[in-house]
Amino acid sequence: MEELSEWRFLDNEQRQDKVDQLSGEQSTHQCQQCGEPAYCDISAGKSTCWCFELEKRDTSELEKSATCLCRKCLSKLPLK
Ligand SMILES: [Zn+2]
Repeated sequence: MEELSEWRFLDNEQRQDKVDQLSGEQSTHQCQQCGEPAYCDISAGKSTCWCFELEKRDTSELEKSATCLCRKCLSKLPLK
């Protein structure tokens, strides 16, 4: 996992944040596809999002106005 390489640079609070995000305990919205809690760093007021680190996905099938997907659904989209 690439995430683990940055893990050691995070302080305890940041680690807890990350864990909450991954486990779905912290969420900013619901995934438009599966309805599961999803987390968007942008919605949370940050300037970048975890989705920027993923390979570009083809989101042309998705509703433009809708919110982003959860990590699971985004990873399932075809690569662009
Ligand atoms: Zn989803």
